[in-house]
Amino acid sequence: MKHIGILQALEHEPAEPIQYRLRLDDEKIALNELLGQRIEISFLDEYRCIYCGRKTKKFYGKNNSCYPCFRDLPENDLCIVKPELCHYHQGTCRDATFGEHHCMQPHIVYLALSSDIKVGITRKTNMMKRWIDQGATQAVAIMEVPSRKDAGDIEVILAQHVKDKTNWRKMLKNETADCDLLATRAELVAKLPEPYHAYLIPDPEIIPLTYPSLSTLEKITSLSLDKQATISGTLIGVKAQYLILDSGVFQVRKHAGYKVAFAV
Ligand SMILES: [Zn+2]
Repeated sequence: MKHIGILQALEHEPAEPIQYRLRLDDEKIALNELLGQRIEISFLDEYRCIYCGRKTKKFYGKNNSCYPCFRDLPENDLCIVKPELCHYHQGTCRDATFGEHHCMQPHIVYLALSSDIKVGITRKTNMMKRWIDQGATQAVAIMEVPSRKDAGDIEVILAQHVKDKTNWRKMLKNETADCDLLATRAELVAKLPEPYHAYLIPDPEIIPLTYPSLSTLEKITSLSLDKQATISGTLIGVKAQYLILDSGVFQVRKHAGYKVAFAV
């Protein structure tokens, strides 16, 4: 079978293991049942902005935007990568309605285990999605705060003691540090300034996450449609936003907006 469309970020649902779907425009292709099969993804030489769908000669910024969306959308503002720089309170948010729905909402500061332990933040309603997108195998919430900026301020403090980045090669090789999330959480809490303690979540539980996988790669080769027009191999796993093939790994989100043909 062959499908043609604009590639979107992978969609997933928490389950044992997590259920993944590849999206091409509005079409959804269940990936778990394709494990063990040979797949092929070919670039059809067309880029579409992931926000407005407009054709563009190239993408701007990291989110695969056309130029007007890169320049104007709040999703492409610096505060999206650095939440501590949120400027909603100064009345300068690029889109106040977006700010109210996306940022001025309860946020969770969490610890996740993807390669090593890392600290991160997410909108409360987006928590599970965020953990899966990062390829976490375990996660635990630390605190709930009223806004994204509050979460960003706390993340800056905690990131002095624990990483805030994932080593994606280790994550894809399933090389996970042997860590006790609850013990690390207790150590970090002891370092938090007292006024923040009111936001701690009492007795949080560790959430385990299992990804579809047939086997693990020894060596990680990154596959990109910018370097080769066609990518192919046997699908041996899906984790975070990656398709894991026996020939290498393909980061789907990085290719959102690319027009492709997908064949099984
Ligand atoms: Zn656009």
